[in-house]
Amino acid sequence: MPRPIRAVVNPTAILGNVNKIKQLLGAGQVMPVVKANAYGHGLERVLEGLKNSDALAILEIDGAARLRQLGWTKPIVLLEGCFDEADLHKATELHCDWVVHNQAQLEDLEKLAALNNSFKPRIFLKMNTGMNRLGLQAPEMPAAITWLDEFTSRLGWPTPVLMTHFANADEAEPRTRQPMAQAQFNNLMRFKPAHWQSSLGNSAGSLNFPELAGDIARPGIAVYGATPGPHAAANYGLKPAMTFISQIIAIQHIEAGDRVGYGSRWQADRAGRIAVVACGYADGYPRHAPDGTPTFVEGHVAPVVGRVSMDMMTIDITSIPDARVGSAVELWGEHIPVDVVADRCGTIGYELLCAIAPRVPFQVVSKD
Ligand SMILES: *Cc1c(COP(=O)(O)O)cnc(C)c1O
Repeated sequence: MPRPIRAVVNPTAILGNVNKIKQLLGAGQVMPVVKANAYGHGLERVLEGLKNSDALAILEIDGAARLRQLGWTKPIVLLEGCFDEADLHKATELHCDWVVHNQAQLEDLEKLAALNNSFKPRIFLKMNTGMNRLGLQAPEMPAAITWLDEFTSRLGWPTPVLMTHFANADEAEPRTRQPMAQAQFNNLMRFKPAHWQSSLGNSAGSLNFPELAGDIARPGIAVYGATPGPHAAANYGLKPAMTFISQIIAIQHIEAGDRVGYGSRWQADRAGRIAVVACGYADGYPRHAPDGTPTFVEGHVAPVVGRVSMDMMTIDITSIPDARVGSAVELWGEHIPVDVVADRCGTIGYELLCAIAPRVPFQVVSKD
């Protein structure tokens, strides 16, 4: 028998999350982000759940090819654009649209003009509105827009989309969150030609400021049922698409004063039962999980005690008499939000979802 660990992906949860986001956005379109192999869930496992989406956004060209192989025929947008000339050709072959975020990429478009390809990409022109990562600066915008508008209409390409990315839409402090998002929105909108569409909302923007998300929202983490913040995913009506689950493979009876694991980090202050779970940092569970990080066993929360090792971790099941060898242990998922585990570990749900290790088998189970 293989180790009893697995990651279970639920496409029905994704379908529900996309619908939830659609509801919030009203008339706006939803373009889920499926970069990093659908945030670690696997493109082929999530696609069924994305069928009601208007388009998909990704940044790996191989991922775009995979989406086409899997039968996705609606638009695909490459979020960092084309990295070189070979990419430009590959993108058009795959019928991808793409982002243009700097002058070099803007000039690259000329290379396609001469070819008279049958596929005409829609260009997402990205502006830097305060994040200072990707995008053209405000002074560059008027000329870029005029040029691109003329270029695309001359070649019969679709009307471009004006785009930017929120920096603080997930901020816990409302006095930072609201003004920054609004300022970035205003910054973009003062350049937007009336006949162009806009794209702003990541998950945080779409959930916290649907009115600032623009015509085409780009939610990532929320689609997978985790939260960018500040509220818990459940408070937004989102359901986790991944349950990371293993089993108890051994139980140790300990006395007060006994210690557990490498470095003897945790010491018992009373007699009890410690369960050894078949999951370690080589499976993608964070090694720096502190004592008290929750897991879920036989209907109860069981805290991590002692250091997480490569293949195993230890939890305190003293107050869970039903827990036995073979009991399922949820590391995160339906009962323990990945965001809670991440928060205990000083990171975000995104990082944990993307870090499920290659040795963990996946399973797809659709359920409401
Ligand atoms: C990753 C990404 C998103 C999605 O962000 P979430 O916080 O996961 O919703 C949206 N837009 C761009 C440009 C991205 O790179």
